[in-house]
Amino acid sequence: MIRFKPLIGITPWYDYDKRLTYIKDGYIEGIAKAGGLPVLLPLTVDEELLEEIMARFDGFLLSGGADIDAVYYGEHNRPYNGEISPYRDRMEIYIAKRAVELNKPLFGICRGIQVMNVALGGTLYQDIFSQIKDRELLKHSQNAPKWYPTHSISIESGSIVSTAFEGDTANVNSFHHQAVKDVAPCLKATSWSADGIIESIEYKDHIFAVGVQWHPELMWQKDPVHLRLFEAFVAAAGESRGHFFK
Ligand code: MN
Repeated sequence: MIRFKPLIGITPWYDYDKRLTYIKDGYIEGIAKAGGLPVLLPLTVDEELLEEIMARFDGFLLSGGADIDAVYYGEHNRPYNGEISPYRDRMEIYIAKRAVELNKPLFGICRGIQVMNVALGGTLYQDIFSQIKDRELLKHSQNAPKWYPTHSISIESGSIVSTAFEGDTANVNSFHHQAVKDVAPCLKATSWSADGIIESIEYKDHIFAVGVQWHPELMWQKDPVHLRLFEAFVAAAGESRGHFFK
């Protein structure tokens, strides 16, 4: 019997001028190293295609990228909301909602945590540095090598993230100007930076639905502890399908 690896769909980046679909290798290689079969999904808003993708893939990785159109969380776009990717918004919000309905594993990175929260009814800070004035924030847009951790996080005990890091703190990189504001009702925050910014969210009752604000796909090559969330995600995808894999 062939032991198929869990099939993981990775949402793509898209260049609207060049009509180019692409992704950084840290996502692909991270999934492969964690025991999954990574596949870059086509950028599509065709619901028939999306439904077949939902049925045939075992897990979904929402990759990093541009900002989300604020209309999806009931706000006007402010000047400090950045570049928007309309097709990615529609496609990824669809995938996030359906993955939860179907109880299929979902892993959101950076933009991905924001998509998960918005898709399930939460809101975002369009720009933390413009909108949070009651305290001094940390440097969340680091000027350092991308793999280098520049701030710590405090992690909720018993969460998937704390299990992955085997403790209640970790050090992470940071490349974001937005963040989760109001957490969606079905989600819970599971880690925070020292300035109170939410750095991870998890679904309360889902097989595996985790969003992280940092970029583990840029860190695991230097520090294998950052591969553990990839491994937990791929393992959950394998369990959800019920196939064995190495
Ligand atoms: Mn950060």
